[in-house]
Amino acid sequence: MTTTTSESVINPATEEVLAAVSPLSLEDTDEAIAKAAGAFESWRSTAPADRALLLRRFAAAVDADLENLAALEVANAGHTVGNARWEAGNVRDVLNYYSGAPERHTGAQIPVAGGIDITFHEPLGVVGVIVPWNFPMPIAAWGFAPALAAGNTVLLKPAELTPLTALRLGELALEAGIPEGVLQILPGKGTVIGERFVTHPAVRKVVFTGSTEVGRRIMAGCSDQIKRLTLELGGKSANIVFDDVDLDAVAAAAPAGAFDNAGQDCCARSRVLVQESVFDRFLELLEPHIKAWEVGDPLRESTLMGPLISAAQQERVAGFVSEGEVAFRGQTPDGPGFWFPPTVLTPAPGSRVLQEEIFGPVLAVVPFRDEADAVRIANDSDYGLSGSIWTNDLGRALRVARGVEAGNLSVNSHSSVRYSTPFGGFKHSGLGRELGPDALDAFTETKNVFIATGR
Ligand code: NAD
Repeated sequence: MTTTTSESVINPATEEVLAAVSPLSLEDTDEAIAKAAGAFESWRSTAPADRALLLRRFAAAVDADLENLAALEVANAGHTVGNARWEAGNVRDVLNYYSGAPERHTGAQIPVAGGIDITFHEPLGVVGVIVPWNFPMPIAAWGFAPALAAGNTVLLKPAELTPLTALRLGELALEAGIPEGVLQILPGKGTVIGERFVTHPAVRKVVFTGSTEVGRRIMAGCSDQIKRLTLELGGKSANIVFDDVDLDAVAAAAPAGAFDNAGQDCCARSRVLVQESVFDRFLELLEPHIKAWEVGDPLRESTLMGPLISAAQQERVAGFVSEGEVAFRGQTPDGPGFWFPPTVLTPAPGSRVLQEEIFGPVLAVVPFRDEADAVRIANDSDYGLSGSIWTNDLGRALRVARGVEAGNLSVNSHSSVRYSTPFGGFKHSGLGRELGPDALDAFTETKNVFIATGR
């Protein structure tokens, strides 16, 4: 393969160079696409039980390498070690979950006049999966696991800043016996490799997770070939707190909902909407949790938050924080690393921090009057990915959940992701759903066959 000059991969907690990775060229990408297209015919016709077994072996290889994968992610992405272990475990779980599919993703037999009608789920062919830097392992698996289970071959392009765990997953797939060419890892530039997935006719589907801006561009590019597309984009999720809750407990839980992965989380509950009768009390209760939020060495088991991914991200996040809006903030360690303090803002209505995705540990707290007002404010955003509703009134929880325009809501919880349930966004947060049983349909075409029987 021809490669261009290698690029340094940096540890964001220490600013040290971890590795050098050579980005692939356009010619390399075309070669990989041809290889994936070549591998497709034998992979799709591999006996379902054998494909299932290979996916389970891949899952077992990930499990055996879990500590190593987690350590790589701590070093490359600055994730806390606890989170990184969960992420590697999620890859294993997603592979195990979809390993059931080759033998169980059945078609239908439909009663019709004059014959027999049956449907088949046909794999698409080569699928290109483009991944952002914030959750390099799980987001990759949410694309490649169902795609492989459905009989497709996959090209995975990790983000420029965080290619190390994806490269390791590629090695583990081969060690587990996944044949050459079925899953290839292509490190390098989005504007070279990612764009080639969009323009190359042999790539039948693109799965893109990343910014809404790039997603929009990819969607426009895919229109030329009516290319299949799943988009998982940005978010500005609301955490709605009603006045009937245990306010102490909800204030204690709010930072985790916003500061997981240092706020670089598309599901971050970065807006907290608090009923006006308890607004001041909520802020009083929140403040000590923010000040005590442990930011530092991501390898230390007690650390709650690591660094941001890069100096550029640090600068971008700082650009959203105006002193006049700051209510209080937490601490950061001294020394090198791209740190940012957990920060709470109390902005006025209309502030840009209530509209734009900050992707950092910055939480905006605003008051609301009643149920209708909470839903109105929650929906006053182009995004619609996630959110939480805290109340002890079940009827209210369900009314608000039905009213909020978002794909993943939780009641009295910040949880957004389970491998067996659908994940994805409304409005500018994306198109289509990942995970759960329905994701398999997104990696297949339904073919209907009618067989005339004469009556
Ligand atoms: P990004 O859009 O800059 O990059 C994402 C990926 O796309 C990278 O691999 C990049 O190399 C590639 N890319 C860049 N330009 C491209 C192009 N023209 N054609 C094809 N590929 C291209 O996003 P990022 O900064 O890496 O990630 C942060 C964003 O991802 C945030 O907006 C966040 O909300 C979003 N995100 C969404 C979800 C979700 O599931 N909805 C999950 C995680 C992150």
